[in-house]
Amino acid sequence: MKLPIYMDHHATTPVDPQVFEVMQPYFSKDFGNAASRQHSFGWRAEEAVAIAREHIAHLIGAESGEIIFNSGATESINLALIGAAQQYQKKGRHIITVVTEHKAGLEACRYLQGQGFQVTYLPVNALGDIDLDQLSHAICDKTILMSVMAANNEIGTLAPLTEIGEMARKKGILFHTDAAQACGKIPLDVRSMGIDLLSMSAHKVYGPKGIGALYVRRRSPRIQLTPQIRGGAQEQGMRSGTLNVPGIVGMGKALELAKALMISESQRIGKLRDQLYQEITEGLEEVFLNGPPLNKRLYNNLNMSFGKVDGDALLMELREVAVSSDAACTTSAGEPSHVLKAIGVSKERAQASLRFGLGRENTTEEVRYVAGRVIEGVKKLRKKVPRPT
Ligand SMILES: *Cc1c(COP(=O)(O)O)cnc(C)c1O
Repeated sequence: MKLPIYMDHHATTPVDPQVFEVMQPYFSKDFGNAASRQHSFGWRAEEAVAIAREHIAHLIGAESGEIIFNSGATESINLALIGAAQQYQKKGRHIITVVTEHKAGLEACRYLQGQGFQVTYLPVNALGDIDLDQLSHAICDKTILMSVMAANNEIGTLAPLTEIGEMARKKGILFHTDAAQACGKIPLDVRSMGIDLLSMSAHKVYGPKGIGALYVRRRSPRIQLTPQIRGGAQEQGMRSGTLNVPGIVGMGKALELAKALMISESQRIGKLRDQLYQEITEGLEEVFLNGPPLNKRLYNNLNMSFGKVDGDALLMELREVAVSSDAACTTSAGEPSHVLKAIGVSKERAQASLRFGLGRENTTEEVRYVAGRVIEGVKKLRKKVPRPT
């Protein structure tokens, strides 16, 4: 077993060696511009992009013409929300989203508010779920778009996509979902789920950073987006700029692998996540699960708080373990997690929380080590500085 151990796969993932391998020729030998129609350098690049596009479309039940490549989920979300809002504002200027969305979605909405749009931010319960009746009541004749993330990056809450899609369809409203965490991990089908716009990112699924895609529905209805980056009219004019061919090839391979491994990896990693939780709770008193029950959340997510412990001190104890924590945020200039706050976790509990994101390279041995370090660290700190919960 090698230290340090990486358990922060919601933040990013390593590039799979198979992904790295297929990308390499497109940096050097096959460096062509996919838009060069006059020679074989361009054709080769174009062909590689077409194959990747197929894999990505296939994973979510879309057609390749519905995939718009860009730089990642942040850009996808901005294009989806701002592009749709600008394009359809004559129909109305109201958007519905959720308080626990990723900052990319929340900030895009904030920008639209500054442009005169109205945004409803739905609250969530202690599990991170929205209330579908509340969603339905929030819809008015000016609503053009709703955006609800598929899987939450902090607490793993899964949205009822099919129900939301059905509601959107009935009311004639566009439905965008941020699937950066869900894509490649849980089955997604844009047709049966009634999804109109879906944001993806390669680096969350063992692909490279800086490449992502937006699914844009092309029939019933055909969706138009106002471009946010103008230029040579690549990607059907919705996102100009020379295509990142190695990145696209890598993303295609990463999602092809994710599809092939989806069932086996969700079971294997889910078991590791459950083992981690079990060992920690057996070894410690006063630990609190943040978010939904384990069997109801994204299979690789675990978020918990530790009573009577200082979050910063705990992180120091876990220096050989890469996990994410709210501690650093509450003490420095940053804000505590808006997600933990939204589900009713107190400031103190949020400060003493850890987010584990398990992934493809993790092993049982590593889980045992991490659980041991957490137990040891918490016990040590509780002995040293008793701190009220
Ligand atoms: C990582 C992430 C993003 C941002 O993706 P980038 O490709 O890094 O821009 C957006 N939403 C969620 C849920 C994420 O986990």
